[in-house]
Amino acid sequence: MTATAREHERTAADDEPILAVEDLAVEFATADGLVKAVNGVSFSVRAGETLAIVGESGSGKSVTAQAVMGLLQSPPARISSGSIRLKGRDLLAMSRHQHRAMCGDHVAMVFQDALAALNPVYSVGWQLSEALVARGRMSRREARARAVELLDLVKVPNAKQRVKEYPHQFSGGMRQRVMIAMALALEPEVLIADEPTTALDVTVQAQIMRLLAEIQAERDMGMVLITHDLGVVADVADSVTVMYAGRAVEQASALDAFAQPAHPYTQALLRSIPRLDRKGQELEVIGGRPPELTNIPPGCPFHPRCRHARDICGEGEPPPVLEPAPGRTVACHFAEEVMADVER
Ligand code: SF4
Repeated sequence: MTATAREHERTAADDEPILAVEDLAVEFATADGLVKAVNGVSFSVRAGETLAIVGESGSGKSVTAQAVMGLLQSPPARISSGSIRLKGRDLLAMSRHQHRAMCGDHVAMVFQDALAALNPVYSVGWQLSEALVARGRMSRREARARAVELLDLVKVPNAKQRVKEYPHQFSGGMRQRVMIAMALALEPEVLIADEPTTALDVTVQAQIMRLLAEIQAERDMGMVLITHDLGVVADVADSVTVMYAGRAVEQASALDAFAQPAHPYTQALLRSIPRLDRKGQELEVIGGRPPELTNIPPGCPFHPRCRHARDICGEGEPPPVLEPAPGRTVACHFAEEVMADVER
């Protein structure tokens, strides 16, 4: 369901974000100095809404998700500022145990590497039912029956039989379905999917994305999709946060971000997506590499790779500004000019 269609169905209470992250900053103490992995990131997710957090490796998107879930190892990680509110309660004001318990009740996460996340010595059915039994929601017998329902839900064929099998007996795509089933076991209100399709081939990627979108719409869940590939989220995201060097450099509705990107990095990510209407043309790549977080260039961190860069870009970091359109945040000195750059 699109954001516009849902707007008609919502009450004021529904419009309260389930998850709201405000000005989050995460640092890591390393031998090379303090690494600011996340720097002043804010976003929120409402019921039925899909937020895509997009960026290359090291942009801070997974660290942000781990901070939300209370999964950061401290030390070396430290949340140096900001708030993370889940259903109105500040998770960072809680003990680590309370934080994780609150997330366990309302938020679930799907990881990239299903094979590593699943335990090879237990059957898929045992692993699916474990969370339900451990949290006292069901007896072992009831949870076993629920495990079959969950595999059915994620469209694993012959679920009754397959529930007895082990992770290595599943293909990559089927294992990812099992991970999604596990995440859904406790009926979360927000699902965080961290690169859920990266290890899969293109056809299976599309199937998994379709499945996630279907389940999200059926359950009216909030969803945070973390990916390095803007193309993967084109059909499912309502809003997009683009991260670079730990900062949210562009935040916009998916419609705006795809139709008229206002940050050169968003623009470059879009240009690097293969397109049928550009068959035979060389695929564009983003020149250079993301900066080392111990050595972020002065000024705008993207300036060494930016085709719009001018002298001012190497001097002062652009503040996120609510321009050039309401509800749109872009950290670029030349956002309006970038939007007018039609050659995408
Ligand atoms: Fe490029 Fe300058 Fe904008 Fe940074 S501020 S993205 S270097 S144009």
